[in-house]
Amino acid sequence: MAKEKIITYPERCKGCHYCLSACKKGALSVSEFTNKKGHKAIEANAEKCVACGSCFTVCPDYVFELVEEAGA
Ligand code: SF4
Ligand code: SF4
Repeated sequence: MAKEKIITYPERCKGCHYCLSACKKGALSVSEFTNKKGHKAIEANAEKCVACGSCFTVCPDYVFELVEEAGA
């Protein structure tokens, strides 16, 4: 099975922080990047992320996407 990783679309984030409690690996944090909506976007730490998809499931604004890792 191809390995997956999470990618983010920071401009979509509305700062609700549902994803922060959904991620049991502590892989998500609030970044210093403020998007056009005026929210500090969420960033994912690739070292900690296990591509479980919980953030993808809870985010109301489709910030996360699971994609196949290149070369996997
Ligand atoms: S759940 Fe989605 S919209 Fe809410 S803070 Fe997380 S990334 Fe942003
Ligand atoms: S895919 Fe799972 S481990 Fe990775 S950032 Fe999202 S909730 Fe956390």
